Amino acid sequence: MTELVIDDLQASVAGKQILHGVTLTVRSGEVHAVMGPNGSGKSTLSNVLMGRPGYEVTGGTVTLDGIDLLALPTWERAQAGLFLAQQYPTEVPGVAVREVLSEALVAAGRSTAELESLVAGEAERIGLSAALLDRAMNVDLSGGEKKRNETVQLAVLQPRIAVLDELDSGLDVDALRDVARRIEQATNDGFDGSPPLGALVITHYNRLLTELHPDVVHVFAAGKVQRTGGPELATELEESGYAEWAQLAEPEAAPARPVVDDPFFAGGTL
Ligand code: ADP
Ligand code: MG
Repeated sequence: MTELVIDDLQASVAGKQILHGVTLTVRSGEVHAVMGPNGSGKSTLSNVLMGRPGYEVTGGTVTLDGIDLLALPTWERAQAGLFLAQQYPTEVPGVAVREVLSEALVAAGRSTAELESLVAGEAERIGLSAALLDRAMNVDLSGGEKKRNETVQLAVLQPRIAVLDELDSGLDVDALRDVARRIEQATNDGFDGSPPLGALVITHYNRLLTELHPDVVHVFAAGKVQRTGGPELATELEESGYAEWAQLAEPEAAPARPVVDDPFFAGGTL
């Protein structure tokens, strides 16, 4: 049994405090949905969990089975069993997905002998042409292909806890179903006898959750969890929208300079 424990996590980016004390725990086999308005800090949370440069932790703790994740570089967090599917997957020209997976397996002490059949099987399951895995990481892939690609990587890497940041964005209905089903299955059965996957699923919409069934739903706004409930909360949010929660966002300070990028603006008033 694995446990990701986030306790009172606070973080800033570009000098601005974004996370204001996030507390939640994800265990093996659990699916937690994090839903909330745009700009509330959901992607910041996922980036901070994975240790993306530029995000500064200003308080709180994150542990994975007791290991202090915040003290580790990103690759060691991955080896400890954490996986992040980014909202906007990073393009890495010149590096093929297969090479990345192969290196990751070696680094984790796993055999690469099965890599080809594992990749081919997973690609087929979620309807991704395996030839795309020979391309450079996320380069020249459609939005849907990127998300399927992330899911193949997840299934091959076999993490213990996955953070999925808007895995549903840019997916058509068929791709959404395939990807959600694959992850739902991992949260039920695990991978090859491992404990079932725990998932922190950041999403705007309910539609992902019709295949990937959340045990717990968190409303996330203004940089923290504002309310926690069961699956019915996702339905309620779909009906009520995020207006109530969006108001919680701190009022933006008036910009010192106009935000419009106006080449004719010479410092006076617009
Ligand atoms: P969400 O995923 O909930 O839409 P984000 O975490 O992407 O929200 O953004 C929360 C706030 O943090 C926004 O105001 C955004 O502009 C800011 N932010 C996030 N990442 C960065 C970054 N790398 N540099 C500057 N500001 C950032
Ligand atoms: Mg986001």
